[in-house]
Amino acid sequence: MASPTDLRAASDALDVLGRVFGYDAFRGFQQDVIDHVVAGGDALVLMPTGGGKSLCYQIPALVRDGVAVVVSPLIALMQDQVDALTAVGVRAGFLNSTQTLDARRRVEAAFVAGELDLLYLAPEALGVRSTLALLDRGRISLFAIDEAHCVSQWGHDFRPDYLALSMLHERWPEVPRIALTATATSATRTEIATRLNLDGARHFVASFDRPNIQYRIVPKREPRKQLLTLLRDEHPGDAGIVYCLSRASVDKTAEFLTANGVAALPYHAGLDAGTRARNQQRFLREDGLVMVATIAFGMGIDKPDVRFVAHLDLPKSVEGYYQETGRAGRDGLPSTAWLAYGLQDVVQQRKMIETSDGDLAHRRNLAAHLDAMLALCETVRCRRVQLLEYFGETTTAACGNCDTCLTPPESWDGTVAAQKLLSAVFRLDRERNQRFGAGHCIDILLGKQNDKISQYGHDSLTVFGIGSELSEAEWRGVVRQLLAEGLLAVEGDYGTLALTEASADVLGRRRTVTLRREPEKPASSRSSKPRGSSTVVAELTPAAASLFERLRGWRASSAKEQGVPAYVIFHDATLRQIASDAPSTLADLSRVSGVGENKLAKYGEQILAVLATD
Ligand code: ADP
Ligand code: ZN
Repeated sequence: MASPTDLRAASDALDVLGRVFGYDAFRGFQQDVIDHVVAGGDALVLMPTGGGKSLCYQIPALVRDGVAVVVSPLIALMQDQVDALTAVGVRAGFLNSTQTLDARRRVEAAFVAGELDLLYLAPEALGVRSTLALLDRGRISLFAIDEAHCVSQWGHDFRPDYLALSMLHERWPEVPRIALTATATSATRTEIATRLNLDGARHFVASFDRPNIQYRIVPKREPRKQLLTLLRDEHPGDAGIVYCLSRASVDKTAEFLTANGVAALPYHAGLDAGTRARNQQRFLREDGLVMVATIAFGMGIDKPDVRFVAHLDLPKSVEGYYQETGRAGRDGLPSTAWLAYGLQDVVQQRKMIETSDGDLAHRRNLAAHLDAMLALCETVRCRRVQLLEYFGETTTAACGNCDTCLTPPESWDGTVAAQKLLSAVFRLDRERNQRFGAGHCIDILLGKQNDKISQYGHDSLTVFGIGSELSEAEWRGVVRQLLAEGLLAVEGDYGTLALTEASADVLGRRRTVTLRREPEKPASSRSSKPRGSSTVVAELTPAAASLFERLRGWRASSAKEQGVPAYVIFHDATLRQIASDAPSTLADLSRVSGVGENKLAKYGEQILAVLATD
């Protein structure tokens, strides 16, 4: 049975949720985590991005006596985190290398005087003696260790500093610790528990499903044009991230979008630090910018209203893909994860692995990751079911919100086609001792007459012209899928095609090959929604949609005035509900999710005025 203190703590937590954050119910197991930590227990929390991890330590920080110390590696984001807390009336500060001595002194004094609810620190700060001495002078309510997967061997950037955090327990044995991460695998979870000395901690593991994200993987034709169509039809004016593999392609894509009227910024390691920081700041602060980036961008970006994540190149692993796409829709509103994928991606990635440094075990590991990613691309099953299975969650029901659910792909018996292609590779190799890339092999099958064919006399091969029943695009699909399944390999710097051991089974008719037929017109998702409108306003009446736009304009100017990101004022989800409820009194407004006491007092009248103007 719960003790009276437990009950009081539970009602305190709910009260704080409503008064401070303006939400009326906890999500998932937030309440369990909060109760456990408020009662002094250690916790390890695994929740997907957008699951609501922050409240799991922010509310205990407000309910327990003392100052919560939050360890986070993302010093560039600390200011925004503190601003967001300040906006709801929570007393927060940070100490890191970016601030002036004066600012630092003020935060230190506030900490010692117990005038803070939360103090954010970078992990390296805890290795500095003066910081430890400072912490000894105040009263600590709890330690929150964010991005806890940084202790694992895959999170090497901050690893040594994170490993050192195991000392927290020895130095402050009575202070509860809560470690949080969005990285799923059970190996990482065990490693976090061991390395951080959290063996006795209670584990809270959420489902990693992100039901509001629509997963789509489309055949790559003209990727930039396809992207532009997606943005124009489904995400006009929305904020989003576009990932490209190379810096050059980041620059070209950003230029292309800008030239076509989409506000886009580039981000990659080749830009100077100042430009990168400025572009990141603008992306966080302004509404509706598109960030075109290499995967260097995005770690810990907690912008809640990223409406789409698009990949123009194939990610190297399902882990990476899920992490990157997970940056969409943290606010729970409908969002899109879109990937364009083609033959060249497979060739390029296989080639990169083949020519990479590192030993055989390393290359095998890379290949296994790529194989899982390719299997996801080529599947005819529900993408979400397959993704969740990859992370060890078994769900049986198809999701209804991915491309394969929305437009089920057909499959066809590709055995004969596969035999033709593999024969061509075999003939070139065995009869001529030559190897060629996919393009030339397809030209041979199609019986094309061109310079290269006549130069090598390939029109005399028995396989010349035996594949005219399929189009070039269809042949590329065949090659891609054979590569994905390991029935064909690419070799060398030129990415030439070669047979594998498994090819022999197909050529020897011991194995059939089922292929996926690409839809001519790929899934265009939300059929109910008018083209050319953003997903956020999709379900609103026209009147409410126009109110939403007015509120967004008001929010943009307030954000600018105060120098904070727009979402610090109100999230899209909150503005959307205000627009659809159209409250006419402060009391009605206060019932909207996301409107807490502080924001009601600060913005209530202004919002009512915006709603009242015609
Ligand atoms: P995470 O850190 O797990 O990625 P956040 O803590 O940033 O997620 O929360 C994601 C979003 O969900 C935020 O916009 C947050 O305000 C919102 N949120 C969290 N908990 C709740 C809740 N109980 N009710 C409504 N919104 C919530
Ligand atoms: Zn599905």
